[in-house]
Amino acid sequence: GATGNASSGTRFDLEKETELRFEVEAGERVQLELLSGLAEIFGSELNRNKKYTFGPGSKIAVFTWQGCSVCLSGKTEVAYISRDTPMLLYLNTHAALEQMRQQAERDNERGPRVMVVGPTDVGKSTVCRLLLNYAVRLGRRPTLVELDVGQSGVSVPGTMSALCIERPADVEEGFSVQAPLVYHFGSTTPGTNIKLYNKLTSTLAEVFSQRCEVNRKASVGGCIINTCGWVKGSGYQALVHCASAFQVDVVLVLDQERLYNELKRDLPHFVRVVLLPKSGGVVERSKDCRRESRDEKIREYFYGFRGITFFPHAFDVRFSDVRIYKIGAPSIPDSCLPLGMSQDDTQLKLVPVSPGRDLTHHVLSVSCAEDDTGDGGSARGRGVLESPVCGFIVVTAVDTQAQVMTVLSPAPRPLPRHTLLIMDIRFIDLK
Ligand code: ADP
Repeated sequence: GATGNASSGTRFDLEKETELRFEVEAGERVQLELLSGLAEIFGSELNRNKKYTFGPGSKIAVFTWQGCSVCLSGKTEVAYISRDTPMLLYLNTHAALEQMRQQAERDNERGPRVMVVGPTDVGKSTVCRLLLNYAVRLGRRPTLVELDVGQSGVSVPGTMSALCIERPADVEEGFSVQAPLVYHFGSTTPGTNIKLYNKLTSTLAEVFSQRCEVNRKASVGGCIINTCGWVKGSGYQALVHCASAFQVDVVLVLDQERLYNELKRDLPHFVRVVLLPKSGGVVERSKDCRRESRDEKIREYFYGFRGITFFPHAFDVRFSDVRIYKIGAPSIPDSCLPLGMSQDDTQLKLVPVSPGRDLTHHVLSVSCAEDDTGDGGSARGRGVLESPVCGFIVVTAVDTQAQVMTVLSPAPRPLPRHTLLIMDIRFIDLK
Protein backbone atom coordinates (compact mmCIF):
# COMPACT_ATOMS: atom_id res chain seq x y z
CA GLY A 1 0.00 0.00 0.00
CA ALA A 2 0.98 3.66 -0.35
CA THR A 3 1.12 6.34 2.32
CA GLY A 4 2.39 9.91 2.50
CA ASN A 5 2.04 13.15 0.61
CA ALA A 6 3.64 14.91 -2.31
CA SER A 7 6.16 17.04 -0.42
CA SER A 8 7.85 14.29 1.56
CA GLY A 9 7.15 11.63 -1.02
CA THR A 10 4.93 8.59 -0.98
CA ARG A 11 5.95 5.43 0.74
CA PHE A 12 5.16 2.12 -0.90
CA ASP A 13 5.43 -1.19 0.92
CA LEU A 14 5.87 -4.03 -1.53
CA GLU A 15 5.32 -7.67 -0.75
CA LYS A 16 7.64 -10.25 -2.23
CA GLU A 17 7.39 -10.85 -5.97
CA THR A 18 5.48 -7.66 -6.67
CA GLU A 19 6.48 -4.51 -8.50
CA LEU A 20 5.87 -0.80 -8.27
CA ARG A 21 5.25 0.66 -11.71
CA PHE A 22 5.43 4.35 -12.40
CA GLU A 23 5.64 6.79 -15.26
CA VAL A 24 7.19 10.22 -14.97
CA GLU A 25 5.11 13.14 -16.28
CA ALA A 26 6.38 15.23 -19.17
CA GLY A 27 8.72 17.96 -17.96
CA GLU A 28 9.03 16.39 -14.50
CA ARG A 29 11.55 14.40 -12.51
CA VAL A 30 10.89 11.74 -9.96
CA GLN A 31 13.11 10.53 -7.15
CA LEU A 32 13.11 7.04 -5.80
CA GLU A 33 14.71 5.74 -2.64
CA LEU A 34 14.89 2.22 -1.25
CA LEU A 35 14.12 2.42 2.47
CA SER A 36 14.32 -1.22 3.45
CA GLY A 37 14.50 -4.68 1.92
CA LEU A 38 15.88 -5.54 -1.49
CA ALA A 39 14.69 -4.34 -4.88
CA GLU A 40 15.84 -4.11 -8.47
CA ILE A 41 14.99 -2.15 -11.60
CA PHE A 42 15.13 -4.27 -14.77
CA GLY A 43 17.68 -6.53 -13.10
CA SER A 44 19.94 -3.86 -11.56
CA GLU A 45 19.97 -3.89 -7.77
CA LEU A 46 19.06 -0.73 -5.87
CA ASN A 47 21.29 0.59 -3.11
CA ARG A 48 19.64 1.48 0.16
CA ASN A 49 19.29 5.20 1.01
CA LYS A 50 20.44 6.41 -2.35
CA LYS A 51 18.18 8.76 -4.30
CA TYR A 52 17.67 7.72 -7.91
CA THR A 53 16.32 10.30 -10.34
CA PHE A 54 14.23 9.52 -13.40
CA GLY A 55 13.54 12.06 -16.13
CA PRO A 56 10.37 12.95 -18.03
CA GLY A 57 8.64 10.07 -19.76
CA SER A 58 10.56 7.32 -17.90
CA LYS A 59 8.54 4.15 -17.43
CA ILE A 60 9.92 2.16 -14.55
CA ALA A 61 9.20 -1.01 -12.58
CA VAL A 62 10.76 -1.56 -9.15
CA PHE A 63 10.60 -5.28 -8.56
CA THR A 64 11.28 -7.11 -5.31
CA TRP A 65 11.91 -10.81 -4.83
CA GLN A 66 11.96 -10.55 -1.03
CA GLY A 67 9.77 -7.53 -0.19
CA CYS A 68 10.79 -3.90 0.36
CA SER A 69 9.73 -0.35 1.13
CA VAL A 70 10.49 2.52 -1.21
CA CYS A 71 9.77 6.21 -1.26
CA LEU A 72 8.73 8.01 -4.43
CA SER A 73 8.71 11.82 -4.72
CA GLY A 74 7.85 14.08 -7.65
CA LYS A 75 5.07 14.03 -10.21
CA THR A 76 4.19 10.67 -11.61
CA GLU A 77 1.56 10.08 -14.26
CA VAL A 78 0.74 6.74 -12.67
CA ALA A 79 2.18 4.80 -9.76
CA TYR A 80 0.74 1.47 -8.68
CA ILE A 81 1.78 -1.88 -7.31
CA SER A 82 1.21 -4.98 -9.40
CA ARG A 83 1.34 -8.58 -8.24
CA ASP A 84 0.81 -9.88 -11.69
CA THR A 85 4.24 -9.91 -13.35
CA PRO A 86 6.02 -12.42 -15.61
CA MET A 87 9.26 -11.96 -13.63
CA LEU A 88 9.31 -15.54 -12.38
CA LEU A 89 9.14 -16.79 -15.97
CA TYR A 90 11.92 -14.40 -16.96
CA LEU A 91 14.03 -15.58 -14.02
CA ASN A 92 13.46 -19.20 -15.04
CA THR A 93 14.56 -18.30 -18.55
CA HIS A 94 17.72 -16.80 -17.12
CA ALA A 95 18.28 -19.96 -15.03
CA ALA A 96 17.98 -22.13 -18.15
CA LEU A 97 20.49 -19.93 -20.01
CA GLU A 98 22.86 -20.08 -17.05
CA GLN A 99 22.69 -23.87 -17.14
CA MET A 100 23.66 -23.74 -20.79
CA ARG A 101 26.64 -21.56 -19.88
CA GLN A 102 27.72 -24.02 -17.19
CA GLN A 103 27.47 -26.85 -19.62
CA ALA A 104 29.41 -24.88 -22.23
CA GLU A 105 32.13 -24.32 -19.64
CA ARG A 106 32.31 -28.03 -18.80
CA ASP A 107 32.24 -29.28 -22.37
CA ASN A 108 34.45 -26.57 -23.83
CA GLU A 109 31.63 -25.39 -26.06
CA ARG A 110 30.05 -22.03 -26.68
CA GLY A 111 27.37 -20.46 -24.49
CA PRO A 112 23.78 -19.66 -25.49
CA ARG A 113 23.01 -17.29 -28.32
CA VAL A 114 19.59 -15.87 -27.71
CA MET A 115 17.36 -13.83 -29.98
CA VAL A 116 14.53 -11.81 -28.45
CA VAL A 117 11.66 -11.12 -30.83
CA GLY A 118 8.14 -9.72 -30.83
CA PRO A 119 6.12 -6.78 -32.08
CA THR A 120 6.87 -3.25 -30.87
CA ASP A 121 6.23 -2.35 -27.26
CA VAL A 122 6.21 -5.78 -25.71
CA GLY A 123 9.29 -5.19 -23.57
CA LYS A 124 11.97 -6.76 -25.79
CA SER A 125 14.70 -4.31 -24.77
CA THR A 126 13.68 -4.69 -21.15
CA VAL A 127 13.91 -8.48 -21.27
CA CYS A 128 17.34 -8.19 -22.92
CA ARG A 129 18.50 -5.84 -20.17
CA LEU A 130 17.15 -8.16 -17.50
CA LEU A 131 18.84 -11.27 -18.90
CA LEU A 132 22.14 -9.44 -19.43
CA ASN A 133 22.03 -8.05 -15.90
CA TYR A 134 21.33 -11.42 -14.31
CA ALA A 135 24.15 -12.99 -16.33
CA VAL A 136 26.73 -10.33 -15.54
CA ARG A 137 25.77 -10.41 -11.85
CA LEU A 138 26.88 -14.05 -11.88
CA GLY A 139 30.22 -13.04 -13.36
CA ARG A 140 29.36 -13.84 -16.99
CA ARG A 141 30.39 -11.60 -19.88
CA PRO A 142 27.46 -11.72 -22.30
CA THR A 143 27.30 -9.59 -25.43
CA LEU A 144 24.35 -7.39 -26.30
CA VAL A 145 23.66 -7.34 -30.01
CA GLU A 146 21.40 -4.41 -30.85
CA LEU A 147 19.57 -4.78 -34.16
CA ASP A 148 16.72 -2.39 -33.37
CA VAL A 149 17.57 0.44 -35.76
CA GLY A 150 14.63 2.50 -34.52
CA GLN A 151 15.37 2.49 -30.81
CA SER A 152 18.96 1.46 -30.25
CA GLY A 153 19.94 1.05 -26.64
CA VAL A 154 23.61 1.30 -27.56
CA SER A 155 24.18 4.06 -30.09
CA VAL A 156 22.29 6.64 -32.12
CA PRO A 157 19.29 5.50 -34.19
CA GLY A 158 20.05 4.10 -37.63
CA THR A 159 22.87 1.92 -36.36
CA MET A 160 23.39 -1.78 -35.58
CA SER A 161 25.85 -2.66 -32.86
CA ALA A 162 27.38 -5.05 -30.39
CA LEU A 163 28.44 -4.32 -26.84
CA CYS A 164 30.29 -6.54 -24.43
CA ILE A 165 28.57 -6.30 -21.03
CA GLU A 166 31.02 -6.15 -18.14
CA ARG A 167 28.88 -4.77 -15.33
CA PRO A 168 25.18 -4.44 -14.56
CA ALA A 169 23.32 -1.53 -16.13
CA ASP A 170 23.34 1.66 -14.11
CA VAL A 171 19.86 2.05 -12.62
CA GLU A 172 19.42 5.53 -14.11
CA GLU A 173 21.60 5.45 -17.20
CA GLY A 174 21.54 1.89 -18.49
CA PHE A 175 24.56 -0.05 -19.72
CA SER A 176 27.87 1.71 -19.92
CA VAL A 177 28.71 2.08 -23.59
CA GLN A 178 32.45 2.37 -23.59
CA ALA A 179 33.60 0.48 -26.60
CA PRO A 180 30.64 -0.56 -28.68
CA LEU A 181 31.12 -1.89 -32.18
CA VAL A 182 28.77 0.18 -34.32
CA TYR A 183 27.75 -0.11 -37.97
CA HIS A 184 25.97 2.40 -40.14
CA PHE A 185 22.53 1.39 -41.35
CA GLY A 186 21.24 4.87 -42.05
CA SER A 187 17.52 4.71 -41.36
CA THR A 188 15.13 3.87 -38.54
CA THR A 189 13.40 0.97 -40.24
CA PRO A 190 14.99 -2.16 -41.74
CA GLY A 191 12.57 -1.98 -44.67
CA THR A 192 14.43 1.00 -46.13
CA ASN A 193 17.22 -1.35 -47.19
CA ILE A 194 16.60 -4.92 -46.11
CA LYS A 195 19.64 -6.23 -48.02
CA LEU A 196 21.91 -3.93 -46.09
CA TYR A 197 20.15 -4.83 -42.84
CA ASN A 198 20.73 -8.54 -43.42
CA LYS A 199 24.28 -7.93 -44.58
CA LEU A 200 25.15 -5.99 -41.42
CA THR A 201 23.48 -8.68 -39.29
CA SER A 202 25.84 -11.20 -40.91
CA THR A 203 28.82 -8.92 -40.39
CA LEU A 204 28.03 -8.54 -36.68
CA ALA A 205 27.59 -12.31 -36.38
CA GLU A 206 31.00 -12.88 -37.98
CA VAL A 207 32.74 -10.36 -35.77
CA PHE A 208 31.08 -11.83 -32.68
CA SER A 209 32.10 -15.36 -33.65
CA GLN A 210 35.67 -14.24 -34.23
CA ARG A 211 35.74 -12.68 -30.80
CA CYS A 212 34.39 -15.89 -29.27
CA GLU A 213 37.26 -17.80 -30.84
CA VAL A 214 39.85 -15.75 -29.01
CA ASN A 215 37.91 -14.87 -25.86
CA ARG A 216 36.64 -17.79 -23.84
CA LYS A 217 34.54 -15.67 -21.47
CA ALA A 218 32.75 -14.02 -24.38
CA SER A 219 32.13 -17.40 -25.92
CA VAL A 220 30.67 -18.90 -22.74
CA GLY A 221 28.70 -15.73 -21.99
CA GLY A 222 26.96 -15.95 -25.34
CA CYS A 223 24.83 -13.15 -26.67
CA ILE A 224 21.41 -11.61 -26.32
CA ILE A 225 20.12 -10.17 -29.57
CA ASN A 226 17.52 -7.42 -29.50
CA THR A 227 15.51 -7.13 -32.70
CA CYS A 228 13.07 -4.79 -34.42
CA GLY A 229 9.33 -4.91 -33.86
CA TRP A 230 8.71 -5.50 -37.56
CA VAL A 231 7.75 -9.18 -37.62
CA LYS A 232 5.96 -9.57 -40.96
CA GLY A 233 7.13 -10.06 -44.54
CA SER A 234 10.75 -9.05 -44.98
CA GLY A 235 10.89 -8.19 -41.29
CA TYR A 236 10.11 -11.81 -40.48
CA GLN A 237 12.64 -13.01 -43.06
CA ALA A 238 15.23 -10.79 -41.38
CA LEU A 239 14.57 -12.60 -38.08
CA VAL A 240 15.04 -15.98 -39.76
CA HIS A 241 18.22 -14.67 -41.37
CA CYS A 242 19.51 -13.42 -38.02
CA ALA A 243 18.81 -16.78 -36.35
CA SER A 244 20.90 -18.52 -38.97
CA ALA A 245 23.70 -15.91 -39.14
CA PHE A 246 24.23 -16.04 -35.37
CA GLN A 247 23.36 -19.73 -35.16
CA VAL A 248 21.06 -18.92 -32.29
CA ASP A 249 20.18 -21.65 -29.82
CA VAL A 250 17.21 -19.97 -28.20
CA VAL A 251 14.52 -17.63 -29.49
CA LEU A 252 12.36 -15.84 -26.95
CA VAL A 253 9.09 -14.74 -28.50
CA LEU A 254 7.30 -12.09 -26.52
CA ASP A 255 3.56 -12.00 -26.60
CA GLN A 256 2.81 -13.21 -30.13
CA GLU A 257 1.65 -16.75 -30.61
CA ARG A 258 1.50 -16.46 -34.37
CA LEU A 259 5.12 -15.39 -34.59
CA TYR A 260 6.01 -18.20 -32.19
CA ASN A 261 4.34 -20.79 -34.43
CA GLU A 262 5.93 -19.41 -37.57
CA LEU A 263 9.41 -19.51 -36.07
CA LYS A 264 8.87 -23.01 -34.72
CA ARG A 265 7.90 -24.08 -38.20
CA ASP A 266 10.73 -22.30 -40.02
CA LEU A 267 13.75 -22.63 -37.74
CA PRO A 268 15.77 -25.85 -37.46
CA HIS A 269 14.44 -28.24 -34.82
CA PHE A 270 17.43 -27.81 -32.49
CA VAL A 271 16.58 -24.14 -31.96
CA ARG A 272 14.52 -23.77 -28.81
CA VAL A 273 11.66 -21.39 -29.48
CA VAL A 274 10.00 -20.19 -26.28
CA LEU A 275 6.83 -18.13 -25.96
CA LEU A 276 6.88 -15.67 -23.06
CA PRO A 277 4.12 -13.32 -21.93
CA LYS A 278 4.74 -9.61 -21.99
CA SER A 279 4.58 -7.68 -18.78
CA GLY A 280 1.37 -5.77 -18.15
CA GLY A 281 3.62 -2.88 -17.16
CA VAL A 282 5.04 -2.31 -20.63
CA VAL A 283 3.61 0.89 -21.95
CA GLU A 284 2.80 1.52 -25.58
CA ARG A 285 4.65 4.46 -27.01
CA SER A 286 3.18 6.74 -29.64
CA LYS A 287 4.99 7.60 -32.89
CA ASP A 288 5.77 11.03 -31.43
CA CYS A 289 7.13 9.50 -28.27
CA ARG A 290 9.38 7.24 -30.33
CA ARG A 291 10.59 10.15 -32.44
CA GLU A 292 11.33 12.17 -29.33
CA SER A 293 13.36 9.40 -27.79
CA ARG A 294 15.35 9.05 -31.03
CA ASP A 295 16.05 12.78 -30.99
CA GLU A 296 17.05 12.56 -27.37
CA LYS A 297 19.51 9.76 -28.17
CA ILE A 298 21.24 11.97 -30.73
CA ARG A 299 21.24 14.97 -28.41
CA GLU A 300 22.84 12.83 -25.71
CA TYR A 301 25.52 11.71 -28.14
CA PHE A 302 26.61 15.32 -28.64
CA TYR A 303 25.73 16.99 -25.36
CA GLY A 304 25.86 14.18 -22.80
CA PHE A 305 23.22 13.80 -20.15
CA ARG A 306 22.61 14.00 -16.41
CA GLY A 307 25.88 14.54 -14.62
CA ILE A 308 28.00 14.38 -17.72
CA THR A 309 27.98 17.33 -20.08
CA PHE A 310 29.84 17.18 -23.39
CA PHE A 311 30.87 20.23 -25.33
CA PRO A 312 30.63 19.45 -29.03
CA HIS A 313 32.60 21.38 -31.61
CA ALA A 314 31.39 23.27 -34.65
CA PHE A 315 33.73 23.69 -37.61
CA ASP A 316 33.82 23.92 -41.35
CA VAL A 317 34.65 20.99 -43.58
CA ARG A 318 35.61 21.56 -47.20
CA PHE A 319 33.70 19.43 -49.69
CA SER A 320 37.00 18.52 -51.31
CA ASP A 321 38.27 17.01 -48.05
CA VAL A 322 35.53 14.42 -47.64
CA ARG A 323 33.71 11.80 -49.63
CA ILE A 324 30.03 11.47 -48.82
CA TYR A 325 28.09 8.37 -49.77
CA LYS A 326 24.61 7.03 -49.43
CA ILE A 327 24.31 3.25 -49.31
CA GLY A 328 21.93 1.85 -51.89
CA ALA A 329 20.79 3.20 -55.21
CA PRO A 330 17.04 3.45 -55.75
CA SER A 331 15.88 0.07 -57.00
CA ILE A 332 15.14 -0.24 -60.67
CA PRO A 333 13.23 -2.99 -62.47
CA ASP A 334 15.29 -6.15 -63.04
CA SER A 335 14.92 -5.77 -66.78
CA CYS A 336 16.66 -2.41 -66.65
CA LEU A 337 19.68 -3.58 -64.66
CA PRO A 338 23.00 -3.59 -66.48
CA LEU A 339 24.08 -7.05 -67.56
CA GLY A 340 25.49 -9.11 -64.71
CA MET A 341 24.14 -6.84 -61.98
CA SER A 342 21.53 -7.89 -59.43
CA GLN A 343 19.25 -5.95 -57.10
CA ASP A 344 21.64 -6.89 -54.30
CA ASP A 345 24.30 -4.86 -56.00
CA THR A 346 22.14 -1.78 -56.19
CA GLN A 347 21.05 -1.98 -52.55
CA LEU A 348 24.61 -2.42 -51.35
CA LYS A 349 26.15 0.11 -53.69
CA LEU A 350 27.96 3.17 -52.42
CA VAL A 351 26.42 6.09 -54.20
CA PRO A 352 28.45 9.31 -54.09
CA VAL A 353 26.45 12.27 -52.82
CA SER A 354 27.36 15.70 -54.06
CA PRO A 355 26.97 18.06 -51.14
CA GLY A 356 24.15 20.56 -51.43
CA ARG A 357 21.80 22.45 -49.17
CA ASP A 358 19.62 19.37 -48.69
CA LEU A 359 22.41 17.86 -46.57
CA THR A 360 21.54 20.32 -43.82
CA HIS A 361 20.52 18.65 -40.52
CA HIS A 362 21.41 15.18 -41.73
CA VAL A 363 23.31 12.88 -39.42
CA LEU A 364 26.46 11.48 -41.05
CA SER A 365 28.43 8.48 -39.85
CA VAL A 366 32.19 8.80 -39.99
CA SER A 367 33.36 5.46 -41.36
CA CYS A 368 36.42 3.79 -39.91
CA ALA A 369 37.32 2.64 -43.41
CA GLU A 370 40.85 3.65 -44.37
CA ASP A 371 40.88 6.86 -46.33
CA ASP A 372 41.74 6.33 -49.88
CA THR A 373 41.85 8.56 -52.83
CA GLY A 374 39.89 6.01 -54.81
CA ASP A 375 36.50 6.82 -56.16
CA GLY A 376 34.59 4.45 -53.94
CA GLY A 377 34.03 1.99 -56.75
CA SER A 378 32.42 -1.32 -55.99
CA ALA A 379 35.53 -3.18 -54.82
CA ARG A 380 36.37 -0.47 -52.36
CA GLY A 381 32.72 0.08 -51.61
CA ARG A 382 32.42 -3.33 -49.94
CA GLY A 383 35.15 -2.30 -47.55
CA VAL A 384 33.22 0.73 -46.43
CA LEU A 385 29.99 -1.22 -45.90
CA GLU A 386 31.69 -3.69 -43.63
CA SER A 387 33.68 -1.14 -41.68
CA PRO A 388 32.38 0.03 -38.35
CA VAL A 389 31.88 3.72 -37.74
CA CYS A 390 34.06 5.77 -35.43
CA GLY A 391 31.53 8.51 -34.71
CA PHE A 392 28.80 10.79 -35.99
CA ILE A 393 28.50 14.39 -37.10
CA VAL A 394 25.53 16.57 -38.00
CA VAL A 395 25.57 19.02 -40.88
CA THR A 396 24.34 22.33 -39.49
CA ALA A 397 24.90 24.52 -42.57
CA VAL A 398 26.00 24.20 -46.18
CA ASP A 399 27.66 26.95 -48.20
CA THR A 400 27.65 25.84 -51.81
CA GLN A 401 29.44 29.02 -52.95
CA ALA A 402 32.38 28.49 -50.65
CA GLN A 403 32.12 24.69 -51.05
CA VAL A 404 32.11 24.06 -47.31
CA MET A 405 29.70 22.68 -44.77
CA THR A 406 29.55 23.41 -41.06
CA VAL A 407 29.31 20.37 -38.84
CA LEU A 408 28.63 19.56 -35.23
CA SER A 409 31.16 17.04 -34.00
CA PRO A 410 31.95 15.45 -30.63
CA ALA A 411 35.67 16.03 -31.23
CA PRO A 412 37.57 19.08 -32.47
CA ARG A 413 38.76 19.28 -36.07
CA PRO A 414 40.05 17.57 -38.09
CA LEU A 415 37.71 14.67 -38.76
CA PRO A 416 39.42 11.38 -37.92
CA ARG A 417 38.46 9.91 -41.30
CA HIS A 418 37.09 11.31 -44.50
CA THR A 419 34.54 8.78 -45.66
CA LEU A 420 31.10 9.91 -44.53
CA LEU A 421 27.84 7.97 -44.83
CA ILE A 422 24.59 9.86 -44.93
CA MET A 423 21.62 8.85 -42.81
CA ASP A 424 17.94 9.47 -43.56
CA ILE A 425 17.83 10.74 -40.02
CA ARG A 426 17.89 14.46 -39.30
CA PHE A 427 18.74 16.28 -36.13
CA ILE A 428 17.93 19.90 -35.54
CA ASP A 429 20.36 21.35 -33.08
CA LEU A 430 18.44 23.77 -30.90
CA LYS A 431 21.28 24.61 -28.53
P1 ADP B 1 10.28 -2.92 -26.87
O1 ADP B 1 11.78 -3.11 -26.86
O2 ADP B 1 9.55 -4.19 -27.10
O3 ADP B 1 9.85 -1.84 -27.81
P2 ADP B 1 10.74 -1.85 -24.23
O4 ADP B 1 11.46 -2.92 -23.53
O5 ADP B 1 11.53 -0.70 -24.73
O6 ADP B 1 9.84 -2.44 -25.41
O7 ADP B 1 9.59 -1.34 -23.23
C1 ADP B 1 8.75 -0.25 -23.52
C2 ADP B 1 8.65 0.69 -22.34
O8 ADP B 1 8.01 0.04 -21.24
C3 ADP B 1 10.00 1.14 -21.81
O9 ADP B 1 9.92 2.53 -21.55
C4 ADP B 1 10.20 0.37 -20.51
O10 ADP B 1 10.96 1.10 -19.59
C5 ADP B 1 8.78 0.18 -20.04
N1 ADP B 1 8.59 -1.03 -19.22
C6 ADP B 1 9.02 -2.28 -19.48
N2 ADP B 1 8.62 -3.14 -18.53
C7 ADP B 1 7.91 -2.42 -17.63
C8 ADP B 1 7.23 -2.72 -16.41
N3 ADP B 1 7.17 -3.96 -15.92
N4 ADP B 1 6.62 -1.71 -15.76
C9 ADP B 1 6.65 -0.45 -16.25
N5 ADP B 1 7.25 -0.10 -17.37
C10 ADP B 1 7.89 -1.07 -18.07
